[in-house]
Amino acid sequence: MNKANLWHPFTQMKDYNDSNPLIIERGEGVRLFDVQGKAYYDGFSSVWLNVHGHNVPELNEAITDQLGRVAHSTLLGMANVPAIELAEKLTRIAPKGLSKVFYSDSGATGVEIAIKMAFQYWKNKGNPAKNKFITMNQAYHGDTIGAVSVGAIPLYHDVFRPMLFPSHVIPYPYAYRHDGGAAAAKEATLSALRDLLETSCEEIAALIVEPIVQGAGGIIVMPPGCLCEMASLCRKYDVLLIADEVATGFGRTGEMFACELEDVSPDLMVIGKGLTGGYLPVAATLATDEVYSAFYADYEEQKTFFHGHSFTGNPLGCAVALASLKLFEERGIVEGVKKKASFVEHKLEALIERPHAGEIRQKGLMIGIELVRDKSSREPYDWADRIGVRTAMRARELGMLTRPLGNVVVFIPPLASTEEELDAMTDILTKSIVDVTEGGASL
Ligand SMILES: *Cc1c(COP(=O)(O)O)cnc(C)c1O
Repeated sequence: MNKANLWHPFTQMKDYNDSNPLIIERGEGVRLFDVQGKAYYDGFSSVWLNVHGHNVPELNEAITDQLGRVAHSTLLGMANVPAIELAEKLTRIAPKGLSKVFYSDSGATGVEIAIKMAFQYWKNKGNPAKNKFITMNQAYHGDTIGAVSVGAIPLYHDVFRPMLFPSHVIPYPYAYRHDGGAAAAKEATLSALRDLLETSCEEIAALIVEPIVQGAGGIIVMPPGCLCEMASLCRKYDVLLIADEVATGFGRTGEMFACELEDVSPDLMVIGKGLTGGYLPVAATLATDEVYSAFYADYEEQKTFFHGHSFTGNPLGCAVALASLKLFEERGIVEGVKKKASFVEHKLEALIERPHAGEIRQKGLMIGIELVRDKSSREPYDWADRIGVRTAMRARELGMLTRPLGNVVVFIPPLASTEEELDAMTDILTKSIVDVTEGGASL
């Protein structure tokens, strides 16, 4: 029955139809239960969304309360109460200068909006030649055409290349403590950016970046100091900075937003995923007064931003986002992440001794473990080995869900996970890696 009509995202359906699919029926705390009643830890926060766990009474209540008033009413030329309150709240917690909130319904649409705003910003300012974008190697910004145009993951994006607008690509600085070349990587990124801006800033509208951690590219962590230097280069050469905080936002990296780790205030910031605690599809693009005011004019000047979606500013979504942000405060979620991150880091220390755990990359509660065939030569597993998928399958058998990025095993637990839960989850993670890469050897 399950296989008859559903076409799943990012899934080869031939594999899926040959597999024993998982069908989730309900959730409770950091666990999900399938239709047979088997429990699984949500080790990837239902694809990096979940914050407070599932079936949280306070969040459920925010939705049912709002449902009793109105489920949806448009934001096109009119407003609703939760959308106003949430916009006010978001501008208070966002990096300084971001004073305007433009809603949409997914990270990808939030990115489309940022790209179109940056493009039209320069046109409205009388500088239409500034219409190109800089992105970073292995960047992922969502799956709509504009977002894919600033995407740089060959496996996902190359097939569509002929229909995309071209973007400049600079290297994402790869820095990790087990890798000696952090300083060189940082310099390579900065000099590529500097060179590009020196020759071409007249035609560049914006740089888009996943700040501090590149997610879908493999949980790549930037060397310290790089983001803020990139931001000052953008300022110097008069190019807008778009921070895609869809994955990193809402506490994931140990600050509310990853930009705060380096005191960076972008011109545009995209948020999604954790915005509603992972409950409902709400995203937003935040802009500075400077960007906003380039669109603010007499109608005849034709500077209006003609963009919107049917469900922009959905009241149910905004209500649950407000309730989630309240829990962030009441439960000290962001402070908790720092402590939990070092607990997890400590727990995973033993794993690095294993012969196939190449690198453990971590920022806050965003963790990627790269598996390698040979550690000394860093020879990767062949993609056909599907080592990541097999490890995730083993984790599922052991009672935890996750989804790999190629040979990188991902561990992105709900931020509200307790140390006890993190303890159990990291045990499953470790055991599944050892079982799959060492053929069942026990710890
Ligand atoms: C997930 C993600 C997106 C896309 O968000 P959707 O809600 O899936 O469209 C964009 N940017 C980054 C950095 C992401 O991780």
